Amino acid sequence: PPLATPLPEPTNPFTYGLSFTGRPLWAYRLGDGPSARAIVGGIHGGYEGDTVTLVRRMLHYLQARPDLIPADVTLYVIPCANPDGYAAGSDVETGRVNGRGVDLNRNWDYHWQMTATHGTRPVFAGSEPFSEPETRALRDLFAERGIEATIFYHSALGSIFSGADRSRAATFELAEMMAQATGYPHAPEGIRGQITTGDAVDYLSTVGVAAIEIELTTHEGIDWERNWRGLRAFLDWDVPVYSSPSSSSSSSSISNSTSSS
Ligand SMILES: [Zn+2]
Repeated sequence: PPLATPLPEPTNPFTYGLSFTGRPLWAYRLGDGPSARAIVGGIHGGYEGDTVTLVRRMLHYLQARPDLIPADVTLYVIPCANPDGYAAGSDVETGRVNGRGVDLNRNWDYHWQMTATHGTRPVFAGSEPFSEPETRALRDLFAERGIEATIFYHSALGSIFSGADRSRAATFELAEMMAQATGYPHAPEGIRGQITTGDAVDYLSTVGVAAIEIELTTHEGIDWERNWRGLRAFLDWDVPVYSSPSSSSSSSSISNSTSSS
């Protein structure tokens, strides 16, 4: 992939909030259809900086080819959900968290606990669920814009993880479809041995968003071809309609967290 050449600045950003240290949280809106969707990079900052590179490249291609957005879709593109961590560099401890030292993918209101883990390493998940401005702003953006399906990009486990609640949205179906499109295996049980708390896609799956994580294979590359193919499939996907859990006879069990990174 041609990573050496910097891309031109994308056009028409809007801010949906500010980071802990006051950096703007940038998003881009493409298309104007009723089915709102989102792709999110960089929630783990510079430690997973390749996800910012990937989503920025996706944005660049889509802004050059707006005809690729189906008529019924609006796509929100958030290249970097954690600009403090992105600015801090690629270190696993300082580059992964926000300016207050909080792991933003442990701060959401799903089985939240103050001390979470990354693998077996303890990480600070904030003083309470949604204690951080970045997670509050992203939660509110999803709610206000009615986003019904999303992909959060991480690295570097080379897998797809799905939000824990499969009773309120087509989370499992999205993960399976994206596994077919990209070739990354879907790991419905999450990471063995890691108990993930406060995870974004787990939370979003409980509020009716089909939400998955795609883990790139390395911290340096963007796996461009398979992810561009995957994004096209995500845009063309017809989001299945789910009935509310109270009126549904399907399983409504909420399993333990199955996502990961
Ligand atoms: Zn991550």
